[in-house]
Amino acid sequence: MNIVVCVKYVPDATADRKFEDDNTVDRVGVDGLLSELDEYAVEQALQFREKREGEDITVTALTVGPEKAVDAVRKSLQMGADSGVHVLDDAIAGSDYLATSLVLAKAIEKIKAESGADLVVCGMASTDASGSVVPAMVAERLGLPQVTLASVVESQGDQVRIKRDNEGSTEVIGATLPIVLSVTDQSGEARYPSFKGIMAAKKKPLETWSLSDLGVDAGEVGLSVAFSQVEDTTARPPRTAGEIVTDEDGSGAGALVEFLASKKFI
Ligand SMILES: Cc1cc2nc3c(=O)[nH]c(=O)nc-3n(C[C@H](O)[C@H](O)[C@H](O)COP(=O)(O)OP(=O)(O)OC[C@H]3O[C@@H](n4cnc5c(N)ncnc54)[C@H](O)[C@@H]3O)c2cc1C
Repeated sequence: MNIVVCVKYVPDATADRKFEDDNTVDRVGVDGLLSELDEYAVEQALQFREKREGEDITVTALTVGPEKAVDAVRKSLQMGADSGVHVLDDAIAGSDYLATSLVLAKAIEKIKAESGADLVVCGMASTDASGSVVPAMVAERLGLPQVTLASVVESQGDQVRIKRDNEGSTEVIGATLPIVLSVTDQSGEARYPSFKGIMAAKKKPLETWSLSDLGVDAGEVGLSVAFSQVEDTTARPPRTAGEIVTDEDGSGAGALVEFLASKKFI
């Protein structure tokens, strides 16, 4: 059995982030990393393999993104994935959800033909665009059931059962492999790569594929064919200093009430 885990390379939220002139996200000139929410996907893929000791299960990490996106695959390999695939092609820049899901689905089909794709695991959302739609689109394109937003994943044979937490209830959903699964940040703490894992990752197979390797026409992806485009962006104004209410002469409480009332909080 082979598990494909989709891992996205995103701009580091703690560093400077910016947009390109065409209002797409600058994914090249900024520091980036494996989307934190996809670490949970890698963790669940690895746990799936570990819980089924004795079975021949491999994990392939897959990313679609610019040159530096290979770091997302490398981190997955360091965590314990067995192999990696990076889809890299200039034409992909600026792709919307539909094009991103097309490229992912085509890459999964190629992985399936070479080593199988019995389970596709995704994060609940990316930490930059937070669409939460790509897993469903990939499932639709592959003609597979989508079992999304799992906080607990259990499996036996070809049966997978998940728990999905809603505001006032928990749903238990069962499905038969092959499926596309997405997991939440409640599904279990993601492991840190060990020193041994970091060293071992250097020798693991990592392939780079272009659109032509996937049989995708460059005209099907990219900003020019995106169904929607960002027209304008405005930086959030810098935070202003807060107002400090002092209580040296006992007037603090009154001043506080006055301030809250002026802001219509009370
Ligand atoms: C500021 C901004 C503006 C945008 N504007 C638009 C717009 O106007 N129209 C539009 O259609 N899209 C827009 N996008 C979406 C952008 O193109 C997305 O990066 C892309 O479509 C994937 O969507 P997502 O990141 O929201 O994925 P989600 O659906 O949130 O991702 C869920 C999961 O899918 C997998 N996944 C997603 N992308 C990848 C990938 N590249 N490689 C591997 N796995 C992946 C991961 O497992 C991830 O956890 C915008 C993004 C940003 C940051």
